[in-house]
Order: sequence, then C-alpha cells, then structure tokens
Amino acid sequence: MIKAKQYTCIGCPIGCPLQLQHEGKDITEISGYECDRGAKYAKQEFTDPRRDMSTTVEIIGARWKRLPVKVTGPVEKDRVMEAARKIHELRVRAPVKLGQILIEDFLDQKAIHVVSCRTMERID
Ligand code: SF4
Repeated sequence: MIKAKQYTCIGCPIGCPLQLQHEGKDITEISGYECDRGAKYAKQEFTDPRRDMSTTVEIIGARWKRLPVKVTGPVEKDRVMEAARKIHELRVRAPVKLGQILIEDFLDQKAIHVVSCRTMERID
C-alpha cells in the first residue's frame, strides 16, 4: 500500500512543501520541490533523518561563562537528546582555540567531533 509523508524543505527560505510517497521502505515518488536539493532532503529525511547541532557549554577561567560549540557532522535524529545530554555534561577549561576538538568521535561516529566555535583566552 502506498503511503505519503510531508516535509518542508529547509534548503533555502522558500521552504517548498515536499510530498514523498512510499511503499514500505521503498520511495515511489517525491514531488513539490523546486530544485534537486528538495528531493535530496526528502529522501534523507525518510531514510536517515539527521540534525545539525550547535550549542554552548560551560567554560572555566575565561572572560565569558559559555563557549559556543558544534558537532562537525549531522547527528541521527533519534540520538539528538542523547547528544545534547552528553554535550551539556562537558566542562571546558580555558584557554581553548577555535576548532579545537572537545569530544573526539562523538557518539562513536568516526571523525565526527564536538569542537569549539571560538577562541577563548585564559584570564586569571
Ligand atoms: S527545494 Fe530548492 S527552492 Fe525549494 S526550499 Fe528546497 S532548496 Fe529552496
């Protein structure tokens, strides 16, 4: 039996409404997109939905109390809460450099890290 899912493309501000039809795990049709990015997005959402993650963590010994950080690759949607909990357990000690790896191979994903999004010097 063919079923349908609806998505809104996040590829640009237009936000095309996407329809994906499928039979079980097989995609039969994708429509509603204005460019290829929309079709790719709908397929990704259906087969392996992931989310980019950026947030802040506590930093000790710097001028500011929070350090912006990000995950260098998209996280499986089902693991976003687990990822958020792990990141928020992190306590960083200044100094820290832009791009410095804070958690390597995050969630056991090879070459996906949690990194600092800015440099913060140590203050005494
Ligand atoms: S399908 Fe293309 S035009 Fe439409 S929202 Fe996505 S990126 Fe923008």
